[in-house]
Amino acid sequence: MPATSELAKNDQQLKLPSTCDALIIGAGVIGLMSAIRLREAGLSVVLCDQKHIGAGSSSGNMGMITPSHAPPLTRPQTIALLPKALLSPSAPVRIKMRFNRQFLGFAARFLRSCTNAHFQHAASACHQLLIRSRALYEELAESLPDSFEWTTRGLLTVSSHSRSRQDFDQEVEWLNSLGIAPRWLSRDEMYAIAPALSDNVASGWLHERDAHLKPDRLLQALLNRALSIGVQISDNTAVELSKMHRTDTTVTLNRQPLRAGNIVVTAGAWTPALLGNLMRHLPIEVGKGYSLTSPEPLPGLDRPLLLHDASAAITPWASSWRVGGTMEFCGQDPSLNKVRLNALRTAANDALKEPIGLEQAEPWAGFRPMSADGIPVIGRVPGCQSVYVAAGHSMLGVSMAPATAELVSALVCDTSTDIDPQPYDPTRFC
Ligand SMILES: Cc1cc2nc3c(=O)[nH]c(=O)nc-3n(C[C@H](O)[C@H](O)[C@H](O)COP(=O)(O)OP(=O)(O)OC[C@H]3O[C@@H](n4cnc5c(N)ncnc54)[C@H](O)[C@@H]3O)c2cc1C
Repeated sequence: MPATSELAKNDQQLKLPSTCDALIIGAGVIGLMSAIRLREAGLSVVLCDQKHIGAGSSSGNMGMITPSHAPPLTRPQTIALLPKALLSPSAPVRIKMRFNRQFLGFAARFLRSCTNAHFQHAASACHQLLIRSRALYEELAESLPDSFEWTTRGLLTVSSHSRSRQDFDQEVEWLNSLGIAPRWLSRDEMYAIAPALSDNVASGWLHERDAHLKPDRLLQALLNRALSIGVQISDNTAVELSKMHRTDTTVTLNRQPLRAGNIVVTAGAWTPALLGNLMRHLPIEVGKGYSLTSPEPLPGLDRPLLLHDASAAITPWASSWRVGGTMEFCGQDPSLNKVRLNALRTAANDALKEPIGLEQAEPWAGFRPMSADGIPVIGRVPGCQSVYVAAGHSMLGVSMAPATAELVSALVCDTSTDIDPQPYDPTRFC
């Protein structure tokens, strides 16, 4: 996959053991970090993926670490956007209506969650994981031998003249209440810290607590760490779970039986299908997003830009940059939609003086695991003795991964943690 081309494949031929303490299913950022945490806690761990590490949405994403994004999509204002999302193929959020039980259940739960009361609850739940993860990333950047381009210069939200300061005020009020208020910047201040910006930008906020990293380098650094501490990783290994797994955690991997003490499902947008025999309804849907990665660096930009009007973002790295975003609720359709990729090109052309390398940029699409109530699903699967789930991190999986892994490890090992597990408990969907 183009955007992951720098990620070396894990090509070791694994001779699978017949037992392990924990089997992790799905090697995205959540699965990798959970595997490392559990191994560090002393468990023997097998991590498998139906394809390979980073085959899901953890590779071509924007790499933004954003405590500022605690406020979820589930808010009363979102309902006003729905007619456009249903009718316009080029709207930043597009919904392809489907009449199956999974999608209708998701839609019903999403709509029920668009209240002010739920908004506050979901924002606090996300905030808890975001703030803890932000601190844990500092530790990872110190402790992992491989660099993942960890950069702590914040994130700049910009808007054209159409976005008034009053529009920002409501968002700022929410962030103030969470203790992460952004700083309003004048036009001159914005151009001083981001000279790459075009003249089209009129207003902006600096989210100083935000950070960014390079996703493929993060996965590579985590893979190296996992291998070095003895996590056994098996690519091209799809797992299926049946009703039997409520009590018996023996699974078939590559036609061999593996008796696992615990199973942790970290299969991102594929999680509802994988848990279908164990949980009647898990409202996680694909929120497909796109990115374009330029092979050249972008002078004059050293922190991510959130392009508010276009619902897109730009992230700069040492030797490349990426524009990405948009959201399609279209089921598991991996095709690259030209209209949406062109919308990203237009957003980059509008926001940047000189979008170097955009013509040669590599396209990518990934499935965000969108949870219907805007809160990740982390905990023991209801009715199961030793099956856990950690999925549904929506637009913030990279930002929330370290704290999610910490919580997974505490739940599986039955140890204490400062993270309150209650908001993420899967039983809320029973
Ligand atoms: C365009 C875009 C931009 C984004 N930008 C950001 C950002 O800036 N910051 C941020 O925090 N988040 C961002 N996200 C969201 C983030 O990428 C996701 O939330 C995160 O990657 C989810 O990680 P995951 O490990 O849960 O799932 P995934 O990375 O999707 O991994 C799931 C894995 O499970 C495997 N799998 C599935 N079924 C099976 C099975 N039966 N057996 C074995 N393996 C299986 C898949 O192959 C896959 O590798 C972005 C997403 C997109 C699409």
